[in-house]
Amino acid sequence: MRADIHNHTCHFSPDAKMTPDELINAAIANGIDVAGITEHYEYDNPDPEDTVQTFDIDEYNLRFEEWKRSCPPPLKLLKGIEFGYQSHIVPVIDRIAKSNDFDIVILSNHLFRGRDVYFLGDHYKDTSKIERHNEYINVMAEMCEKCSGYDVAAHFDYINRYNTDKEEYLLYDDCPKAFDRFFEALISKNKCLEINTRSVYKAYMKGSSIIMPDRKIIERYLAMGGELISLGSDSHTPDTLGIYFDDMYEYLRAIGVTELCYFEKRQPVTFGI
Ligand SMILES: [Zn+2]
Ligand SMILES: [Zn+2]
Repeated sequence: MRADIHNHTCHFSPDAKMTPDELINAAIANGIDVAGITEHYEYDNPDPEDTVQTFDIDEYNLRFEEWKRSCPPPLKLLKGIEFGYQSHIVPVIDRIAKSNDFDIVILSNHLFRGRDVYFLGDHYKDTSKIERHNEYINVMAEMCEKCSGYDVAAHFDYINRYNTDKEEYLLYDDCPKAFDRFFEALISKNKCLEINTRSVYKAYMKGSSIIMPDRKIIERYLAMGGELISLGSDSHTPDTLGIYFDDMYEYLRAIGVTELCYFEKRQPVTFGI
């Protein structure tokens, strides 16, 4: 069983180059049983370079019904959204999440000091690694504490995804208090931790010697009582659907993860790995 519940199409995510048909075909070709479309919704995006903003959700709801009709069984296509977090837009996120019939609501922190990490370049160089990691994970924690209408906290390792230093890693030991605060928020609200395989893929493409997330991060989540984990390839093109899922299954099993989940009508559905 494979559920890839974090993906984007070019219809509503301007940074994606994949049509829904291409996504469906790629999911089938890669042995995916459950595919989620989670279009970007970056309300009040402060980054001047970022083309990702908001979209017409009524239009998305209509179009998704068409996409679902064209999806051949047994592939299950789920309707989601990925909100970019900022503290002042919590009411917007919770209102939109509540007033639409999404299957999956993903929350993401794409920003570091007002810039999308994607466009950050070397601007971060005036901060230390520990400072960046601590600050970023604390915002993840705040996001999970302040919002309520979500299911999944996405790509906790986004802060390093586009880092030009290929040997810089996000470790649990960089900011254990921030990680514990983040996990406490997720677990107390029965929300899900995403393991993002686009981050793995990007680390591989950079030539990093370590490409998997720090096992201590996942071990600590489990030790604190975390039960919900989802996988997302965060695909923007058809060639990465389900990428690194086989390796990740092996990696997670060795850490002691026995179940993953996806969301349907906002309810977690777990399955063994
Ligand atoms: Zn994202
Ligand atoms: Zn995404």
